[in-house]
Amino acid sequence: MRVVSVGEVMIELVRGQDGRFALGYAGDAFHTAIYLSRCGASVALATALGNDRYSDEALETAAAEGVATDLVLRIGDRVPGLSLVEADGNRNGEIWRDTSPARQLFELPGWDRVAEQVVAAQYVYFSGVTLSLYSNVGLGRMLAALEFGRERGAKIAFDSNWRFACWRGDDQRARAVFSEALRRSDLALPSFEDEAKLWGDASPAATVERLTTFGVREVVVKNGASPALVHAEGRTVEVPVPQKLDPVDTRAAGDAFNAAYLAARMKDEKPEAAALAGHRLAAEVLQHPENLMPGPRRAVGEKRH
Ligand code: ADP
Repeated sequence: MRVVSVGEVMIELVRGQDGRFALGYAGDAFHTAIYLSRCGASVALATALGNDRYSDEALETAAAEGVATDLVLRIGDRVPGLSLVEADGNRNGEIWRDTSPARQLFELPGWDRVAEQVVAAQYVYFSGVTLSLYSNVGLGRMLAALEFGRERGAKIAFDSNWRFACWRGDDQRARAVFSEALRRSDLALPSFEDEAKLWGDASPAATVERLTTFGVREVVVKNGASPALVHAEGRTVEVPVPQKLDPVDTRAAGDAFNAAYLAARMKDEKPEAAALAGHRLAAEVLQHPENLMPGPRRAVGEKRH
């Protein structure tokens, strides 16, 4: 029984204070997979990479964190997407991902094996960025796998993580694709800022209302330093952050929140306790300049789920 996290791993170059770039690996589903593993969950990453040394290194990074890599397809003569991140406080930069192997996950030889494992998972986790990668053929296969998985008892967890650039400004397509994903989701973990921009939601409560209309039974609306709004088991409650922080770097905080929330729910913790665990892990990540803060895997010695 495991979580399958579906998405992309990119090469990431982050500019340091000295102006030089340091090499790492990034991607929302990748971060969440690693933080899930650190939280003690059994997790596999489903993506596609090239056959180059950087693809090898990205896989080694995941494997060293205890993330299973048996659902990673490889394409020869292709390299992963690339993200450049500036040290300008806002972490602006550029991304090259038009030819990312991850875009073809559900069209490459072996896609059916990936789909079978999505169907067999206990939880499937993916984001709106994941969905923005695929062609209509790929999307159809992914959505069908979610549906079959659900019929077999898999729980589907989705963070819309809306980014204007991922959708090339096509908000209508983003909304249409997200609607299809939401109709197949058990748990939605959006950020209020993203939902307000894409759907015009006036408040986190409006986001909860809109998402439950799609049939999503559990909704957690993250809202920066403001309380998360948690709707589950028919109740809606605010879960405040334990402490408001002045973040060093906000990247991957939402991904870490999602991982800790999911890991806690897999251990049958209550939604409010899970949200608090999410806040706590996000707070740690906010205080580090890296997406993947240093630290031993939390799974060591713990029971795996
Ligand atoms: P995302 O990073 O996905 O855009 P948010 O900005 O809503 O999402 O932040 C994700 C989580 O990070 C929040 O739910 C909260 O737990 C934590 N967080 C964000 N900003 C702060 C802050 N200033 N102080 C404390 N916690 C924060």
